[in-house]
Amino acid sequence: MTAEVSASGAPAERIGHHVWLHLMDGKAVITHAGKAIAQHPLRAWILAVSRIAEPLLLRDTVWEEQESGALVRSRALMHLARRHRRAGRVRGGGEGARMIELPEVVTLARQMNEALNGKRVASANRGNSPHKWVFYNRPPEEFAKIPVGKTVGEVRGEAKWIFAPLEPGFVLLIGETGGRVLFHQDERTIPQRYHLLLGFEDGTCLTVAVQGWGSILLVTKAELAGHPAARGTSPLSDAFTYEWFKRLLQEYEGRDKKSVKELMITGPGVSGIGNGYLQDILFRARVHPTRKVAEITGRECRRLYDATRRTMKEAVRLDGRDTERDLYGNPGRYRAVLDKRAKGKPCPECGTAIGKMAFLGGAAYFCPGCQT
Ligand SMILES: [Zn+2]
Repeated sequence: MTAEVSASGAPAERIGHHVWLHLMDGKAVITHAGKAIAQHPLRAWILAVSRIAEPLLLRDTVWEEQESGALVRSRALMHLARRHRRAGRVRGGGEGARMIELPEVVTLARQMNEALNGKRVASANRGNSPHKWVFYNRPPEEFAKIPVGKTVGEVRGEAKWIFAPLEPGFVLLIGETGGRVLFHQDERTIPQRYHLLLGFEDGTCLTVAVQGWGSILLVTKAELAGHPAARGTSPLSDAFTYEWFKRLLQEYEGRDKKSVKELMITGPGVSGIGNGYLQDILFRARVHPTRKVAEITGRECRRLYDATRRTMKEAVRLDGRDTERDLYGNPGRYRAVLDKRAKGKPCPECGTAIGKMAFLGGAAYFCPGCQT
């Protein structure tokens, strides 16, 4: 009775007790005796695994790296597959949920560094509002115990993750997440519901309140070394050159079948871009979201590269999107050209009405006139 879950593309990993299959818009296929018995959008599926089967997974799951990606074998998954077929599709999370992306992460990390570096943690807890779409890698007791007495080190933001060292020995990772990360002068402004609270010796606090889904992990430095959060090339870094980007497109596995959207927002490759900024990048590059990677011409590749660099730099300079909040609850100043507010409105370049379509598990906004 062995069920298998395979996910093409990125490898699966376990970080502590956290189950990780990093493939944003792909599908997980559950097979039994070589036959596919269930398919789910990967993200929803993995969340379901964590919700229903995690205790079992911890006991009897075997993880293997395969040529096609990751393979998970577990008796628990057989049970899970049956439940899913009965219950229909997994609910919750939702691809429409907004996530913080590189510019927001960089802004939050910079502010956390200013506000928290050197502070000692006096109290910690894993939240007062159970939320089935929040990933934790440790039980509440450990979240309450480990941070206490530790000092916040130099906080940094990379890809879609905030790395906050808790010295000595640990790093608090907040990422792949939607919601609010907030600083509080005292306890009076703590939100009613939150999924992490750190209280510092001077009476100030940090809260994380997840909307949609998110990961809050307490990892050792050793665990951090292999974490996918640290992978990929940031579009803000010196390593993100045009030559590198061109090669990424040329050598992209499955480039005949996979879309430019998939290339841009799933790792490894370019890190830190999600469905939010992708809309503006593709608009500025005049590339339609469904275009296959193999069809991208040299000129379009150049435009994609320039649009990526320009959009991300501008958004960092403006402290992220105006639909997100910084550490003090203030909105960013980057206003997206294409998001739900633009739908049906005239394109700023050619006047054609902006369209919307569902594509690869998320809304895609585009100008039918400019983007081909
Ligand atoms: Zn247009």
